[in-house]
Amino acid sequence: MATTRRDFLASSLAFGGTLLLPPAHLSASTGASEWLPGYGRLEQQGKLEARIEQADAILEACELCPRRCGVDRGAGDKGYCRAPSRVMVYAAQPHFGEEVSLVGSGGSGTVFFSNCNLRCVFCQNWSIAHKGMGNRISDERLADHMLRLQRIGCHNINLVTPTHVMPHILRATRIAFHKGLRLPLVYNTSGYERVEILRILDGVVDIYLPDCKYAESTMAAKYSSGADSYPAVTQAALLEMHRQVGVAKPAEDGLMYRGLMIRHLVMPNRVAGTREFTRWVAEEVSPDTYVNIMSQYHVAYRAAEFPRIARAITAGEYLEAMDWAEQAGLTNLDPRSLAVRAVYRRRGAA
Ligand code: SF4
Repeated sequence: MATTRRDFLASSLAFGGTLLLPPAHLSASTGASEWLPGYGRLEQQGKLEARIEQADAILEACELCPRRCGVDRGAGDKGYCRAPSRVMVYAAQPHFGEEVSLVGSGGSGTVFFSNCNLRCVFCQNWSIAHKGMGNRISDERLADHMLRLQRIGCHNINLVTPTHVMPHILRATRIAFHKGLRLPLVYNTSGYERVEILRILDGVVDIYLPDCKYAESTMAAKYSSGADSYPAVTQAALLEMHRQVGVAKPAEDGLMYRGLMIRHLVMPNRVAGTREFTRWVAEEVSPDTYVNIMSQYHVAYRAAEFPRIARAITAGEYLEAMDWAEQAGLTNLDPRSLAVRAVYRRRGAA
């Protein structure tokens, strides 16, 4: 289905008068009428349906993530993530706490999926991820959520913990595209992803927003339910994401439309392996990779049972982490992380 400039504007105006203009940096080089999010381009090329079929086939003996449970999800069998056959959503709402280039003035359109394939002991959304709070909905209803987020002015569709429901997301996105969805898709994942599965998303996802939680297998196994393969698996996943979407840089309007944005949560007592992580990104991905060194670790869920992670981080630990990022040569650090560092430095000097 070709989308002309008139179609594009008409579909945009249909959503409560919210005019969705393409990013200036893209429209300047390609012409406004040509700009579409990745999934839209794939659909126009007639390739999206085949990706959906590929993804659906994997659900029959589920290997969507590195746990590779082999259960028949379509028949309702549950694997490690405990996800049922229908997609479960806890909330779909604008979120203003994400990275500035995702939030803009209208917020990031977050869709929080219930359940999780990683299940960390310090999970900050444990009632959703571990306990599975949320509602089972149809793909059509998920598409409606996406369209509502667009209608109220969100700048992207931010899919939080999407790994175990990727096929449902693809189906819903296709439905939503035909009803006028034109926002970039943000794949907001723990990073524990199989490269083979990510290849199905090549060209579909506009922005990858993965965590990189650990550099050591022992830490991953201890704090993320035995996932000792996390460092190696996630590093391979990050390289694949970078290959697909490249470096993330905001457009002239300050918003992000494409690229890889890596999150790394600093943990107490160097549990997250920040020094090794920052070196690896600079050397193996690219020094200008967008990296958000996050300071908001707090004791949640079962973290109090584990002495090394049973406290918040100190200002000194955060400053040390940012120093390592700079020493590694990373040049595209998240602006808010730089602001936090400046505050901690001022407090230290005072
Ligand atoms: S998505 Fe769930 S069922 Fe499928 S392999 Fe991963 S944990 Fe197992």
